[in-house]
Order: sequence, then structure tokens, then C-alpha cells
Amino acid sequence: MRKLPEGEKFRFRCHKELPCFNKCCSDVNIFLTPYDVLRMRRTLWIPSSEFLKRYTVTLLGEEGLPYVLIRMMDNDNKTCPFLGQEGCMIYQDRPWSCRMYPLFPAGEDGQTYMVEEKPSCLGTKEDRQWTVEEWKESQGVKKYDEMNVLYSEITSHEFFSKGNKLDEKKSKLLYRACYDLDEFRTFLFAWKFLDMFEMEEDAIKELEQDDEKLLLFGFKWIRFNLFNEDVLNIKPDKKFEALRAIRGK
Ligand code: SF4
Ligand code: SF4
Repeated sequence: MRKLPEGEKFRFRCHKELPCFNKCCSDVNIFLTPYDVLRMRRTLWIPSSEFLKRYTVTLLGEEGLPYVLIRMMDNDNKTCPFLGQEGCMIYQDRPWSCRMYPLFPAGEDGQTYMVEEKPSCLGTKEDRQWTVEEWKESQGVKKYDEMNVLYSEITSHEFFSKGNKLDEKKSKLLYRACYDLDEFRTFLFAWKFLDMFEMEEDAIKELEQDDEKLLLFGFKWIRFNLFNEDVLNIKPDKKFEALRAIRGK
């Protein structure tokens, strides 16, 4: 790994003609953000619960945050389940970290990066050169970054820096609202939670159909529920009912 000074270029070109093609998508830790899961399960046309069960493993951090990784296959090479003969089968919706490779964040600021130049990756010996920004642009990272910043407002919240931890119930609540969106949607609509908030009818309808809007709402839901932030407004006549219902779930 080499820290990349701002503006400096790195060499990289990954393509099928390289002898290492497809060899790096095995036995690797790919952490998934909520937006990664949204994109991957949508491209596979399966419910979020099924996606999470079949393709991921979740670890729980000391602070109670869930860390979701791709579950590598149970074969000798521990292959990524999305790897095919022609490369990544979900290429258009591959996760953030696969898009960013060979770059890795070098800090929390989202501005500094390390470049991995391991000998087995022949792409880093190719002539094509990129700045970080050029690379991100070419890999369609912008939307991912936008959504990931909003999730990091939760994971790096001062609640945690003050030493607080999520109990099991709150960890589950976060996992459902951020990763298991179909379950979250069912939960919201089955319990008529949204009727208790000051929200336009159109906005409520959007949550029924639009996963990205639902995820954005999920982030707010977490900040409202876990950190008592004023990001959602309960209708004045529903305050008691809403608080009782939320605490009960
Ligand atoms: S998701 Fe695609 S790019 Fe990422 S490790 Fe799996 S096969 Fe490789
Ligand atoms: S060039 Fe690097 S990233 Fe591309 S297939 Fe080879 S090892 Fe993987």
C-alpha cells in the first residue's frame, strides 16, 4: 500500500487479457454499505432478506454496529458468489469497494487514499494513469459516496465516540432500516407508523415504491430513534401513541 499524495496519478487497467483476470475475486473481505446492498439485491431481483441470508455474513462490532460482508463460497478458492467466467456478473451494481480497487481510504476524511500495488495485480503495471477523481468518475462512485456519507453520519455519530453501545434491539433496528429494506418497508406500513409523522402523502407513497427514498428515510429513522435527533416530526396529536409504538418495536 502506498499513500497517494493529492493530485498524484496511479497506474491501473484491469482487463480480460491479463493472466490475473478473475483471480482477485476470491477469499477477500468485501464490506457492504447499505447502498451496496440496495443495488446488489435490486439487480438480482430478490428480496433484501433473501439477499442478506444467501450472500452475506454479518459481524457485530463492539459498539453494536452491524458489519455486513459478502459470504464467499464454500469451495477451495472461496470464490465470490458473483464471479463468472467473464468477470463480475453484477458489474453494473458491484459494491463500492470493488469499484474503488486498487484504492483504499487512508483516513476518515474521504479525501486521502492509499493505492495497493501488489505484484499479483498486473493491472497496476499497465500504462493507463488516473487521478483519484478520474478513477471515481470512471467507476460511477459518486452516487455511492453520497449515500455512504449519510450512513457514516450514523456510524461515526458522537453517540459512539462518547463510549455508548447499541443493545441488541437497537442493533437489529439499525440493520433492518439500513440493510433489510423490504422488511423495513413492511414494518413501517404494517404498523402504520408513517401516519404518526408529519409527512406529505406523496412522500409516503414514494417510500412504498422507491428503495433509495426508503433508505434515506431509514437513515433519518435511525437518527430519530437511536440518537433522539429532531429529523422527523411527530404529529402533535400522535405524540404519545408514536412514542409508545416506537419504544415497543
Ligand atoms: S462483487 Fe464482483 S467485483 Fe466484487 S468481488 Fe465479487 S465478483 Fe469481484
Ligand atoms: S488486474 Fe488486479 S484487479 Fe484486475 S483482475 Fe488482475 S488482480 Fe484483479
